[in-house]
Formats: sequence, C-alpha cells, structure tokens
Amino acid sequence: MNEHDSEVIAGLLEREGYTRTDDIKSADVIIYNTCCVRENPERKTYGQVGDLKALKRKNPDLIIGICGCMPQQPGEAERIREKLPHVDIVFGTHNIHRLPELLKEARAGRRAFEIWEREEEILEDLPVRRQGKLKAWVTIMYGCNNFCAYCIVPYVRGRERSRKPEDIVREVTQLGREGYKEVTLLGQNVNAYGKGLEPGVDFSDLLLMLNDVPGIERIRYTTSHPRDFSEKLIETVATAEKVCENFHLPLQAGSDKILKRMGRGYTLARYLGLVHDIRARIPGASITTDLIVGFPGETDEDFQRTLEAVEEIEFDSAFTFIYSPRRGTRAAEMPDQVPEDVKHERIQRLIEVQNAISLRKNQALVGTSQEVLVEGPSEGNPDMLEGRTRTNKLVHFPGDRAALEGKLVTVKITSAKTWTLGAEVVK
Ligand code: SAH
Ligand code: SF4
Repeated sequence: MNEHDSEVIAGLLEREGYTRTDDIKSADVIIYNTCCVRENPERKTYGQVGDLKALKRKNPDLIIGICGCMPQQPGEAERIREKLPHVDIVFGTHNIHRLPELLKEARAGRRAFEIWEREEEILEDLPVRRQGKLKAWVTIMYGCNNFCAYCIVPYVRGRERSRKPEDIVREVTQLGREGYKEVTLLGQNVNAYGKGLEPGVDFSDLLLMLNDVPGIERIRYTTSHPRDFSEKLIETVATAEKVCENFHLPLQAGSDKILKRMGRGYTLARYLGLVHDIRARIPGASITTDLIVGFPGETDEDFQRTLEAVEEIEFDSAFTFIYSPRRGTRAAEMPDQVPEDVKHERIQRLIEVQNAISLRKNQALVGTSQEVLVEGPSEGNPDMLEGRTRTNKLVHFPGDRAALEGKLVTVKITSAKTWTLGAEVVK
C-alpha cells in the first residue's frame, strides 16, 4: 500500500513539473514515504533523513519531506520537527493530495507540517506514476476496522472505506488499454470489500466484474483476512479464469490462546478448515501467510503450536515477523512481553522450518508446466528472463527478451530452490 502511495506522490510531483532522478545529490525534492507497522523501518527513517543534513547544507533550496504512516502517530510530527530541523514538509496518509500546496509553502521558506487526524471522502483521479509497465497496484479499499491487538494500521490508516466498483473498473479498464497485464487489488481486509456501499456489492462480485476487463490477464489481491474469508471467494477464484490461484492468508500464530489475545477472530481449527476447503476445490493453489513470533504471553508451548501448524499446513512461503510493540496498541500494554533473545531464537527456528517446506514444495513442481507472465531480464542474471507463475512463484528461464517480454508463456519447471524455480519455455 505504501509503495502504491509512493506512485501517487510521484504522479503529483510530475504534475508539478518535477522529473525523477536516480542521483540523490541532484534532487530538488526528497520525500521519504515511511511505514510504522514495525519499529525497525522507523528507526531507519530517522537515521537516513538525519544523514541528509549535509546535502541540505550544500543546497539550501533542497526540500526534504517525510510522509506515510510514521508521522501519523500521535506526537510523531512534533518529534520530527525537533529532531530533524532540516525537514521542510511532513504529511500523513490522509492528505497525500495536499503535497502541491505543502511544496509551495516550503519553497516560500516555511516549514509545512500537516497531519489529518481523520480520513475524508475517497479522492478519485489523483495522478499516478506507476513503477512498472505490466503489473499495477489498484487500491480497492482504505483503512481497517479490525484493531488486532498488535497492529497500528487502524490508527494510522483510519476506518474501512471501499472505492465504488465503477471507479475501480474504470481504472483497471484504463490499465488494460495502456498495456498492463496484471493488477493486484489492495486492501487490509479485501473480504470486507463493499460493506456500506449502495447498491450492495462484495469482493467476489468485484472480481467477476474485473474478470471481464479486456487486456488484463491476471488479477491478484492482498490481503484476505481469514475471519471474513468466504466459500464464495474460493468458488470465484476457481471459476474466474483471470483470478490467480494464490491465497495469501495471514495466520499470525498457531496457538488459539495467542490468536484470541491478538483479537484475530478465528481459531486454528477454523483456519485449517479454510486451507482444506481451498485445496479440495483448487488442488494447485498456493497458500502463503504472515506469522508473528514473540507476541506478549507467547510461551514455548504456544510457539510450538505455530511450528506444528506450519508443518501441518505446508505454506508455499511465509513472511515471518518478530513482534514489535507499537505505541497505543493493546498488545504494547500487555505485561508479559517476550524477551528479545527469545524472540530472535524463535524466528530463526521458524524460518528454518518454513524454508525446508518452501524448498520441498518447489521441488514438487519440477517437471510440471506452468503459465508465466514474462516480466523481463532477471534481476540477478541479465542473461535470463524472469516471471511469476499464477501461484506467484518466481521463475528464471532462458529466452529472447524482445520476443517474450509482456507475454504469457508456458514453461516447464526444471529445477527448484527455496525462493525460485528454474525453467525452460515450452510455448
Ligand atoms: N491487514 C493484513 C496485514 C497487514 S500488516 C492482515 O490482517 O492480514 C502486514 C503484517 O505485518 C501482518 O500480517 C503481521 O504479520 C505483521 N505485523 C503487523 N503489526 C505487527 C507488529 N506490531 N509486530 C510484528 N509484526 C506485525
Ligand atoms: Fe492490522 Fe489486523 Fe487490520 Fe490487518 S486486519 S491491518 S493485522 S488490524
């Protein structure tokens, strides 16, 4: 979501007449888009923006900004004002569109700090400078109403609001015309899409509408929350040919006690039921997840439940996180915080277990045929092409860039590693 916000920020800057540079020393404006979901990136922001002081001394006209969810936290903008006196602009997640006015203030030599406490109406038609030519992010809903005990997102992104389906269809139709092949629909809980809209529409309805958009070949989405996950969605993914067979379904923890304390609204049994239903209806589907270790009160036994769940479910891959206390959330106030060394030891064990599973699952694909969208030269090896399967696995293969880039091809998987597959083009 932040990456897509950055694309909007880039679009606004272009509309103001700025062009992109890869050389930070020649920049007139530098804007840091931040995330506060965990503490580490937050620390980095203070470090990196602090380092810009020298640049600003050399070029006093340089405008430096910080935006995103970090300054959206209570007291944070004031902290930036004090600790980073060379920062000219601060804005939050609700007022990105105000950037041109804030820039004008900064150019006139005034510090422009503006945070909106509350979300307003959804603004359509903000300019977007997209990073890619084939794959595009499309926000379908903003905010979150879930207030999981560890999570800052509802505080900094505001309440759940869905874009109207006709606005989304219009944006995706335009993307299809521009040659985009794949869209990823963004929301914190896409299964809640459409709540409050008149006339009533749900996420499956939206997927079916988008399935008809010409030019677009693949539809992905993230994230679907297990609590609101529906049979209907499995059926839609099974039948709508453009919707990819990848389910990113954050489990977070394997112990029911911890899930309850997190306020996730499901038990492990319910989650296992979903996994069973998905695999029964769509045998080749991939299932990926998010996991947190070291949530307050997590005992060795609770953590063991997570390891067992991971072994039992066999996720294709997982994003694993060390629990990071966030000011203002319920979990940060819980008394039984887990010591740092225990958290680190647990995440290492979890990663080891999951990596072995990821490798095993990839090895099982050797010899199969897979549809891949050819994205271009491989990042690590420019002699190879790369793309992703419908199940979102990264594949490397030899081939003629000019002929294949942007096309859907069938490849045969010839080798497997933990994170990538090797293949050759069949068709
Ligand atoms: N809305 C999505 C998650 C968005 S945040 C969902 O509920 O599925 C992405 C991931 O960051 C979460 O799934 C969680 O695993 C992780 N995360 C969020 N807050 C965290 C915290 N305080 N510490 C560690 N990980 C966290
Ligand atoms: Fe955070 Fe929970 Fe909302 Fe996801 S559903 S963004 S984890 S509060």
